[in-house]
Amino acid sequence: MRALVFDSFGGPLEIRDVPAPEPPPGGVVVRVGGSGICRSDWHAWQGHDPDVVLPHVPGHELAGAVAAVGTGVRNWSVGDRVTVPFVNACGTCAQCASGEQQVCARQTQPGFTHWGSLAEFVALDAADVNLVGVPEELDLSTAAALGCRYATAFRAVVQVARVRAGEWVAVHGCGGVGLSAVQIAAAAGARVIAVDVAPGALALARQLGAEHALDGGTDVPAAVAELTGGGAHVSLDALGAAVTCINSIRSLRPRGRHVQVGLLPPAQGRPEVPMERVIGLELQVLGSHGMAAHAYPELLGLIAAGRLDPRPLITRRLSLDDAAAALAEVGRRPGIAVVTSF
Ligand SMILES: [Zn+2]
Ligand SMILES: [Zn+2]
Repeated sequence: MRALVFDSFGGPLEIRDVPAPEPPPGGVVVRVGGSGICRSDWHAWQGHDPDVVLPHVPGHELAGAVAAVGTGVRNWSVGDRVTVPFVNACGTCAQCASGEQQVCARQTQPGFTHWGSLAEFVALDAADVNLVGVPEELDLSTAAALGCRYATAFRAVVQVARVRAGEWVAVHGCGGVGLSAVQIAAAAGARVIAVDVAPGALALARQLGAEHALDGGTDVPAAVAELTGGGAHVSLDALGAAVTCINSIRSLRPRGRHVQVGLLPPAQGRPEVPMERVIGLELQVLGSHGMAAHAYPELLGLIAAGRLDPRPLITRRLSLDDAAAALAEVGRRPGIAVVTSF
Protein backbone atom coordinates (compact mmCIF):
# COMPACT_ATOMS: atom_id res chain seq x y z
CA MET A 1 0.00 0.00 0.00
CA ARG A 2 1.00 3.64 -0.36
CA ALA A 3 1.77 5.43 2.90
CA LEU A 4 3.42 8.57 4.27
CA VAL A 5 6.53 7.38 6.10
CA PHE A 6 9.29 8.98 8.16
CA ASP A 7 12.50 7.25 9.26
CA SER A 8 13.77 9.88 11.70
CA PHE A 9 12.10 12.45 13.94
CA GLY A 10 11.79 15.72 12.10
CA GLY A 11 13.36 14.05 9.05
CA PRO A 12 12.06 13.63 5.49
CA LEU A 13 8.41 12.63 4.94
CA GLU A 14 8.13 10.26 1.97
CA ILE A 15 5.37 8.48 0.10
CA ARG A 16 6.42 4.84 -0.10
CA ASP A 17 5.06 1.38 -0.84
CA VAL A 18 4.92 -0.57 2.43
CA PRO A 19 3.22 -3.84 3.47
CA ALA A 20 -0.50 -3.43 4.17
CA PRO A 21 -1.58 -4.39 7.72
CA GLU A 22 -3.46 -7.57 8.67
CA PRO A 23 -6.46 -7.29 11.00
CA PRO A 24 -5.46 -8.02 14.62
CA PRO A 25 -7.60 -10.46 16.66
CA GLY A 26 -10.73 -8.51 17.63
CA GLY A 27 -9.79 -5.72 15.23
CA VAL A 28 -10.25 -4.67 11.63
CA VAL A 29 -8.38 -3.14 8.74
CA VAL A 30 -10.03 -0.06 7.27
CA ARG A 31 -9.53 1.24 3.72
CA VAL A 32 -9.01 4.92 4.51
CA GLY A 33 -11.45 7.30 2.83
CA GLY A 34 -10.38 10.44 4.68
CA SER A 35 -7.51 11.20 7.06
CA GLY A 36 -7.19 14.62 8.64
CA ILE A 37 -3.81 16.22 9.24
CA CYS A 38 -3.76 17.21 12.90
CA ARG A 39 -1.23 18.92 15.14
CA SER A 40 -0.78 15.61 17.00
CA ASP A 41 0.59 14.10 13.79
CA TRP A 42 3.13 16.90 13.73
CA HIS A 43 4.06 16.12 17.37
CA ALA A 44 4.54 12.44 16.40
CA TRP A 45 6.81 13.43 13.51
CA GLN A 46 8.80 15.80 15.74
CA GLY A 47 9.48 13.03 18.28
CA HIS A 48 7.30 14.45 21.06
CA ASP A 49 5.41 11.17 21.63
CA PRO A 50 7.33 8.39 23.39
CA ASP A 51 5.04 5.71 21.86
CA VAL A 52 6.25 6.28 18.31
CA VAL A 53 8.69 3.66 16.95
CA LEU A 54 10.61 4.29 13.69
CA PRO A 55 10.02 3.96 10.80
CA HIS A 56 6.52 5.37 11.27
CA VAL A 57 3.30 6.18 9.40
CA PRO A 58 1.34 9.01 11.09
CA GLY A 59 -2.42 9.66 10.90
CA HIS A 60 -5.13 9.13 13.53
CA GLU A 61 -8.15 11.24 12.42
CA LEU A 62 -9.90 8.94 9.97
CA ALA A 63 -12.96 7.50 8.37
CA GLY A 64 -13.22 4.74 5.82
CA ALA A 65 -14.71 1.37 4.97
CA VAL A 66 -13.96 -1.91 6.72
CA ALA A 67 -11.74 -3.94 4.37
CA ALA A 68 -10.90 -6.99 6.52
CA VAL A 69 -12.24 -8.32 9.82
CA GLY A 70 -10.17 -10.12 12.45
CA THR A 71 -11.22 -13.13 14.51
CA GLY A 72 -13.84 -12.54 17.20
CA VAL A 73 -15.36 -9.33 15.81
CA ARG A 74 -19.16 -9.55 16.14
CA ASN A 75 -20.60 -6.20 15.06
CA TRP A 76 -18.74 -5.15 11.91
CA SER A 77 -18.48 -6.48 8.36
CA VAL A 78 -16.48 -5.72 5.23
CA GLY A 79 -17.85 -2.59 3.56
CA ASP A 80 -19.22 -0.90 6.70
CA ARG A 81 -18.50 2.85 6.70
CA VAL A 82 -16.83 3.77 10.00
CA THR A 83 -14.86 6.30 11.97
CA VAL A 84 -13.06 5.68 15.25
CA PRO A 85 -11.93 7.75 18.23
CA PHE A 86 -8.15 8.19 18.11
CA VAL A 87 -8.05 6.44 21.50
CA ASN A 88 -8.74 2.80 20.68
CA ALA A 89 -9.81 1.41 24.05
CA CYS A 90 -9.23 -2.17 25.22
CA GLY A 91 -12.80 -2.65 26.43
CA THR A 92 -11.86 -4.61 29.54
CA CYS A 93 -9.80 -2.44 31.96
CA ALA A 94 -11.29 -0.64 34.95
CA GLN A 95 -11.68 2.64 33.01
CA CYS A 96 -13.43 0.91 30.12
CA ALA A 97 -15.70 -0.96 32.55
CA SER A 98 -16.78 2.42 33.98
CA GLY A 99 -17.52 3.82 30.51
CA GLU A 100 -14.46 6.08 30.34
CA GLN A 101 -12.80 4.53 27.30
CA GLN A 102 -11.12 7.82 26.40
CA VAL A 103 -8.69 7.25 29.31
CA CYS A 104 -8.32 3.48 28.82
CA ALA A 105 -5.31 2.03 30.65
CA ARG A 106 -4.42 -0.26 27.71
CA GLN A 107 -5.33 2.00 24.79
CA THR A 108 -3.74 1.90 21.39
CA GLN A 109 -3.68 4.88 19.03
CA PRO A 110 -3.27 4.53 15.25
CA GLY A 111 -0.52 6.86 14.14
CA PHE A 112 1.21 6.69 17.54
CA THR A 113 1.36 3.17 19.03
CA HIS A 114 1.28 1.63 15.54
CA TRP A 115 1.11 2.78 11.92
CA GLY A 116 -1.65 5.25 11.21
CA SER A 117 -4.09 6.39 8.58
CA LEU A 118 -2.01 8.55 6.23
CA ALA A 119 -1.97 5.39 4.13
CA GLU A 120 -4.36 3.34 2.02
CA PHE A 121 -5.11 0.98 4.94
CA VAL A 122 -4.96 1.16 8.74
CA ALA A 123 -5.37 -1.50 11.44
CA LEU A 124 -7.67 -0.75 14.38
CA ASP A 125 -7.91 -2.71 17.64
CA ALA A 126 -11.00 -3.84 19.56
CA ALA A 127 -13.45 -3.03 16.77
CA ASP A 128 -16.58 -3.83 18.78
CA VAL A 129 -15.50 -1.30 21.44
CA ASN A 130 -14.24 1.45 19.19
CA LEU A 131 -15.83 1.62 15.74
CA VAL A 132 -18.58 4.16 15.07
CA GLY A 133 -20.87 3.77 12.05
CA VAL A 134 -20.89 6.74 9.67
CA PRO A 135 -24.37 7.61 8.35
CA GLU A 136 -24.82 7.57 4.56
CA GLU A 137 -25.48 11.32 4.42
CA LEU A 138 -22.05 12.14 5.89
CA ASP A 139 -19.16 11.95 3.40
CA LEU A 140 -16.00 10.21 4.61
CA SER A 141 -13.82 13.32 4.32
CA THR A 142 -16.10 15.17 6.77
CA ALA A 143 -16.52 12.09 8.97
CA ALA A 144 -12.73 11.90 9.34
CA ALA A 145 -12.86 15.00 11.57
CA LEU A 146 -15.08 13.05 13.96
CA GLY A 147 -12.10 10.79 14.69
CA CYS A 148 -10.21 13.53 16.49
CA ARG A 149 -10.78 17.25 16.36
CA TYR A 150 -14.55 17.68 16.01
CA ALA A 151 -15.39 14.97 18.54
CA THR A 152 -12.67 16.18 20.91
CA ALA A 153 -14.12 19.69 20.79
CA PHE A 154 -17.65 18.35 21.30
CA ARG A 155 -16.69 16.41 24.41
CA ALA A 156 -14.63 19.33 25.77
CA VAL A 157 -17.45 21.86 25.36
CA VAL A 158 -20.54 19.75 26.06
CA GLN A 159 -19.47 16.92 28.35
CA VAL A 160 -16.39 18.23 30.20
CA ALA A 161 -17.04 22.00 30.46
CA ARG A 162 -20.85 21.51 30.43
CA VAL A 163 -21.30 24.85 28.67
CA ARG A 164 -24.74 26.40 29.21
CA ALA A 165 -26.64 28.91 27.09
CA GLY A 166 -25.66 32.50 27.85
CA GLU A 167 -22.23 31.68 29.25
CA TRP A 168 -19.11 33.35 27.92
CA VAL A 169 -16.70 30.86 26.34
CA ALA A 170 -13.16 31.88 25.31
CA VAL A 171 -11.40 29.63 22.79
CA HIS A 172 -7.62 30.11 22.69
CA GLY A 173 -6.20 28.84 19.40
CA CYS A 174 -8.45 28.55 16.35
CA GLY A 175 -6.96 25.60 14.51
CA GLY A 176 -9.23 22.66 13.70
CA VAL A 177 -10.16 21.79 17.27
CA GLY A 178 -10.56 25.45 18.28
CA LEU A 179 -12.81 26.28 15.33
CA SER A 180 -14.85 23.16 16.09
CA ALA A 181 -15.20 24.33 19.70
CA VAL A 182 -16.31 27.78 18.52
CA GLN A 183 -19.10 26.27 16.39
CA ILE A 184 -20.20 23.78 19.06
CA ALA A 185 -20.21 26.34 21.89
CA ALA A 186 -22.16 28.84 19.76
CA ALA A 187 -24.68 26.11 18.90
CA ALA A 188 -25.07 25.47 22.64
CA GLY A 189 -26.11 29.12 23.03
CA ALA A 190 -22.86 30.36 24.52
CA ARG A 191 -21.32 33.74 23.68
CA VAL A 192 -17.96 32.89 22.13
CA ILE A 193 -14.70 34.84 22.08
CA ALA A 194 -12.19 33.41 19.59
CA VAL A 195 -8.47 34.08 20.10
CA ASP A 196 -5.73 33.47 17.55
CA VAL A 197 -2.72 35.23 16.03
CA ALA A 198 -3.87 34.52 12.43
CA PRO A 199 -6.46 36.86 10.85
CA GLY A 200 -7.66 34.06 8.54
CA ALA A 201 -8.43 31.77 11.47
CA LEU A 202 -10.28 34.58 13.25
CA ALA A 203 -12.34 35.35 10.15
CA LEU A 204 -13.40 31.69 9.94
CA ALA A 205 -14.17 31.70 13.69
CA ARG A 206 -16.52 34.65 13.11
CA GLN A 207 -18.29 32.74 10.34
CA LEU A 208 -18.68 29.76 12.67
CA GLY A 209 -20.39 31.80 15.37
CA ALA A 210 -17.80 33.71 17.42
CA GLU A 211 -19.22 36.99 18.72
CA HIS A 212 -15.76 38.50 19.21
CA ALA A 213 -12.36 37.77 17.66
CA LEU A 214 -9.22 38.73 19.58
CA ASP A 215 -5.63 39.00 18.36
CA GLY A 216 -3.64 36.53 20.48
CA GLY A 217 -0.65 38.86 20.43
CA THR A 218 -2.35 41.37 22.73
CA ASP A 219 -3.14 41.22 26.48
CA VAL A 220 -5.76 38.50 26.03
CA PRO A 221 -6.90 38.04 29.66
CA ALA A 222 -7.49 41.80 30.00
CA ALA A 223 -9.43 41.93 26.73
CA VAL A 224 -11.60 38.95 27.72
CA ALA A 225 -12.29 40.52 31.13
CA GLU A 226 -13.30 43.77 29.43
CA LEU A 227 -15.64 42.07 26.92
CA THR A 228 -17.29 39.80 29.48
CA GLY A 229 -17.52 42.08 32.51
CA GLY A 230 -15.09 40.07 34.63
CA GLY A 231 -13.95 37.00 32.72
CA ALA A 232 -15.21 33.99 30.82
CA HIS A 233 -17.24 31.24 32.46
CA VAL A 234 -15.39 28.65 30.38
CA SER A 235 -12.05 28.92 28.63
CA LEU A 236 -10.33 26.34 26.43
CA ASP A 237 -6.70 26.01 25.42
CA ALA A 238 -7.37 24.48 22.03
CA LEU A 239 -3.77 24.88 20.81
CA GLY A 240 -1.56 23.41 23.51
CA ALA A 241 1.16 25.95 24.25
CA ALA A 242 2.34 27.62 27.44
CA VAL A 243 1.00 31.03 26.39
CA THR A 244 -2.47 29.78 25.42
CA CYS A 245 -2.76 27.58 28.53
CA ILE A 246 -1.83 30.46 30.86
CA ASN A 247 -3.98 32.99 28.95
CA SER A 248 -6.91 30.60 29.16
CA ILE A 249 -6.67 30.24 32.94
CA ARG A 250 -6.16 34.00 33.38
CA SER A 251 -9.22 34.70 31.19
CA LEU A 252 -11.61 33.10 33.70
CA ARG A 253 -13.98 34.77 36.13
CA PRO A 254 -14.23 33.37 39.69
CA ARG A 255 -15.36 29.72 39.66
CA GLY A 256 -14.68 29.48 35.92
CA ARG A 257 -13.71 26.26 34.14
CA HIS A 258 -10.51 25.86 32.12
CA VAL A 259 -10.39 22.91 29.73
CA GLN A 260 -7.01 21.76 28.41
CA VAL A 261 -7.63 20.30 24.96
CA GLY A 262 -4.42 20.97 23.02
CA LEU A 263 -1.55 18.61 23.80
CA LEU A 264 1.28 19.98 25.92
CA PRO A 265 4.17 17.54 25.38
CA PRO A 266 6.79 18.01 28.13
CA ALA A 267 9.43 18.11 25.37
CA GLN A 268 8.19 21.64 24.62
CA GLY A 269 8.45 22.72 28.29
CA ARG A 270 5.70 22.86 30.92
CA PRO A 271 3.53 25.99 31.37
CA GLU A 272 3.70 27.93 34.62
CA VAL A 273 0.07 27.56 35.60
CA PRO A 274 -0.97 30.39 37.98
CA MET A 275 -2.15 28.05 40.74
CA GLU A 276 -2.72 31.00 43.11
CA ARG A 277 -5.63 32.02 40.87
CA VAL A 278 -6.91 28.44 40.72
CA ILE A 279 -7.14 28.50 44.54
CA GLY A 280 -8.18 32.10 45.14
CA LEU A 281 -10.89 32.14 42.45
CA GLU A 282 -11.91 28.48 42.89
CA LEU A 283 -11.16 27.76 39.25
CA GLN A 284 -11.64 24.30 37.82
CA VAL A 285 -8.80 22.94 35.67
CA LEU A 286 -10.11 20.10 33.52
CA GLY A 287 -8.51 17.81 30.95
CA SER A 288 -10.31 16.47 27.89
CA HIS A 289 -8.93 13.58 25.83
CA GLY A 290 -10.97 12.62 22.78
CA MET A 291 -14.36 10.95 23.23
CA ALA A 292 -15.42 7.35 23.80
CA ALA A 293 -17.21 5.60 20.92
CA HIS A 294 -20.39 5.11 22.96
CA ALA A 295 -20.74 8.91 23.28
CA TYR A 296 -20.90 9.47 19.49
CA PRO A 297 -24.67 8.96 18.97
CA GLU A 298 -25.46 12.30 20.68
CA LEU A 299 -23.01 14.09 18.36
CA LEU A 300 -24.23 12.25 15.24
CA GLY A 301 -27.82 13.04 16.20
CA LEU A 302 -27.09 16.76 16.41
CA ILE A 303 -25.36 16.61 13.01
CA ALA A 304 -28.30 14.71 11.47
CA ALA A 305 -30.71 17.28 12.94
CA GLY A 306 -28.69 20.12 11.41
CA ARG A 307 -27.85 21.62 14.82
CA LEU A 308 -24.14 21.02 14.21
CA ASP A 309 -22.35 20.99 10.86
CA PRO A 310 -18.68 19.98 10.64
CA ARG A 311 -18.58 20.51 6.85
CA PRO A 312 -17.47 24.18 6.87
CA LEU A 313 -14.48 23.18 9.03
CA ILE A 314 -13.02 21.13 6.17
CA THR A 315 -11.24 23.80 4.15
CA ARG A 316 -8.86 21.63 2.09
CA ARG A 317 -9.12 18.18 0.50
CA LEU A 318 -5.72 16.79 -0.53
CA SER A 319 -4.11 13.77 -2.14
CA LEU A 320 -1.62 11.69 -0.15
CA ASP A 321 1.13 13.19 -2.31
CA ASP A 322 0.36 16.58 -0.74
CA ALA A 323 0.29 15.25 2.84
CA ALA A 324 3.99 15.80 3.58
CA ALA A 325 3.81 19.50 2.75
CA ALA A 326 0.57 19.90 4.69
CA LEU A 327 2.04 18.19 7.76
CA ALA A 328 5.16 20.35 7.62
CA GLU A 329 3.07 23.53 7.60
CA VAL A 330 0.40 22.40 10.08
CA GLY A 331 -1.40 25.33 11.69
CA ARG A 332 -0.41 27.85 9.01
CA ARG A 333 -3.72 27.75 7.13
CA PRO A 334 -7.20 28.03 8.65
CA GLY A 335 -9.51 25.04 8.97
CA ILE A 336 -9.01 21.29 8.70
CA ALA A 337 -7.03 19.67 5.85
CA VAL A 338 -8.13 16.12 4.98
CA VAL A 339 -6.38 13.65 2.68
CA THR A 340 -9.12 12.14 0.55
CA SER A 341 -7.25 10.37 -2.28
CA PHE A 342 -4.60 7.78 -1.66
ZN1 LIG B 1 -9.47 -0.17 28.59
ZN1 LIG C 1 -5.76 14.79 16.31
